[in-house]
Amino acid sequence: MSSSNPFSLAGKVALVTGANTGLGQGIAIALAQAGADVVAVGRSSATDTEREVKALGRKFHSIYADLERSHEAERVVAQAIEATGQVDILVNNAGIIRRNDALVFTEADWDAALDVNLKTPFFLAQAVAQSMVKTGRGGKVINIVSMLSFQGGIRTASYTASKSGLAGITRLLANEWASRGINVNAIAPGYFETNNTTALRADEQRNRDILGRIPAGRWGRPSDLGGAAVFLSSAASDYVHGTVIPVDGGWLAR
Ligand code: NAP
Repeated sequence: MSSSNPFSLAGKVALVTGANTGLGQGIAIALAQAGADVVAVGRSSATDTEREVKALGRKFHSIYADLERSHEAERVVAQAIEATGQVDILVNNAGIIRRNDALVFTEADWDAALDVNLKTPFFLAQAVAQSMVKTGRGGKVINIVSMLSFQGGIRTASYTASKSGLAGITRLLANEWASRGINVNAIAPGYFETNNTTALRADEQRNRDILGRIPAGRWGRPSDLGGAAVFLSSAASDYVHGTVIPVDGGWLAR
C-alpha cells in the first residue's frame, strides 16, 4: 500500500459521472475529503460540487457530456487525462429511471436507460482501463448499481435490466482486469433521498411501505455512500474484485 493510511486518496484523480447532484455529488465530496482531485462529467453544471470540492483544497475539473451517447466515452476520458494527467478512479454513477407497466413499456424508455445506465458505463470503463493498462498504474472502477440488481422491482423494466446487467459486467470486468491491477466493484445503494426517488417519496403508500422495510428506519442520504466509495477507491480494497457492496440501511437483510 502506497500510503500509511490505506484509505488515503492523496494524489489520485477521480472521474465521477453525474456529480452535480444526488449520490454522485455525495461520492465526489467523499472522495475529495479522502484527498482525491475530482473530474465531474455530465450534462448539467456542477457548481455546488465544485464549491465543496475546492473548499476541501482539492482540484476540480468539469467536462460536459450527454451520457446517453456512448461514443462520448473516449473523448471524455481523453479530455480528463489531458486536463489532469491521469484518471485513477472511475465512478460510473450517472443513471436514469423510466417507470411504466411492462405491458406498454416503450422502446424509447428501454433504450434510454440501457444506454445511460449500462452501455456508456461499459465504454467509459473500457477507455479508462486502456489508459490504466498503458501506463501500468492500475486503478479502480466503481459502478453504481441498485437493489434492482438483486430484485425484480416493478414498472422499471429497463432500469432493472440495466442495473442487473451492470452488476454482471462488474464481475466480467473484474475477471478480465484483476491481473492488470484494476479493481472493478460496485455499490448498490438502497433507497436514497435524491431526484431519482422523488416520485416514490411523493406517493404516501409507497413511501410508507419502503420505510417500513428499511431496518435503519430512514431513507439514505448521499453522504451515507461515502465510506463504501472511499474504500473501493483506495488501497484498502486492493484485493477486492468483482463484488457488489449494498449500502441499504439493511433492506436486503429483510
Ligand atoms: P439523480 O439525482 O437523478 O442523479 C442522476 C445523475 O445522472 C444526475 O447527475 C444526472 O444529470 C445524471 N444523468 C442522467 N442522465 C444523463 C445523461 N444523459 N448525461 C449525463 N448525465 C446524466 O439520481 P441519484 O439517485 O443521485 O442516482 C445516481 C445513481 O444511483 C444512478 O445510477 C441511480 O440509478 C443510482 N441509484 C439511486 C438510488 C436512489 O435511491 N436514489 C438507488 C439505487 C441506485 P442531470 O442532473 O443533468 O439530470
